[in-house]
Amino acid sequence: MRTQIAAANWKMNLTFQQGEKLLDEILAAEIKLKDHQKTIFAVPFPYLTMTRSEVSDEKNYYAAAQNCYHKKSGAYTGEISVEMLHSLNITYCIVGHSERREYFSETNAILAEKLNLCLENFITPIFCCGEALAIREAETQNEFVAQQLSESLFHLSSEQVKKIVIAYEPIWAIGTGKTATTDQAQEMHAHLRSILAGHYGENIANEVPILYGGSVKANNAKELFSCPDVDGGLVGGASLVSKDFIEIIRSLK
Ligand code: PEP
Repeated sequence: MRTQIAAANWKMNLTFQQGEKLLDEILAAEIKLKDHQKTIFAVPFPYLTMTRSEVSDEKNYYAAAQNCYHKKSGAYTGEISVEMLHSLNITYCIVGHSERREYFSETNAILAEKLNLCLENFITPIFCCGEALAIREAETQNEFVAQQLSESLFHLSSEQVKKIVIAYEPIWAIGTGKTATTDQAQEMHAHLRSILAGHYGENIANEVPILYGGSVKANNAKELFSCPDVDGGLVGGASLVSKDFIEIIRSLK
């Protein structure tokens, strides 16, 4: 069984105290994850050490960064390097969320550099891809995501690509309450896996977890996660409500 992941993306929400309370409530549910299941909390940078120490005693719970900088180190005021994340024992980092692509002009080429740095520093990147509404309406989403993968990923070796997680996040479904149907999600996830298979072979493609993101909620997670190529979710809004995220974790295969 491929690794199945429930990943929370807190974005720029919650004070430190609210974050601690949320985490306490989720951990109090004492969900025992199976060996192939993981729960990841992508929290704001200043909260990383707090979150890491709270979750580090729990099997298969991890703290993650929501972003990292694409340069190794230097005069980049306000940025966080991958080496810094590694020095805090952080092992996951979201790379290329559509909000970063849109508001911070992150290109496929910049994201390729971030992936390299993550992998060099033993951090598993959760690489986000996905199309905007206009692209979906023009029915060119398959070509669009293929280009995102080829420009950011295809320089990686087979050994490296096995260490990444992909999150398919259609932009029209993020924070909109409009979820992709299970058919749309499965079709795209199978397409992404076939792109990986075309470049790296089927065995490698079958190892890479592909998460779905875009208005995953407590009441639709089970159905989405039941799709054969959907290996869990990257969750924004619903990850801020303990009872909802608990239900989402419990929906993992
Ligand atoms: C996200 O931020 O990655 C996301 C999918 O958000 P939401 O679940 O709120 O749509």
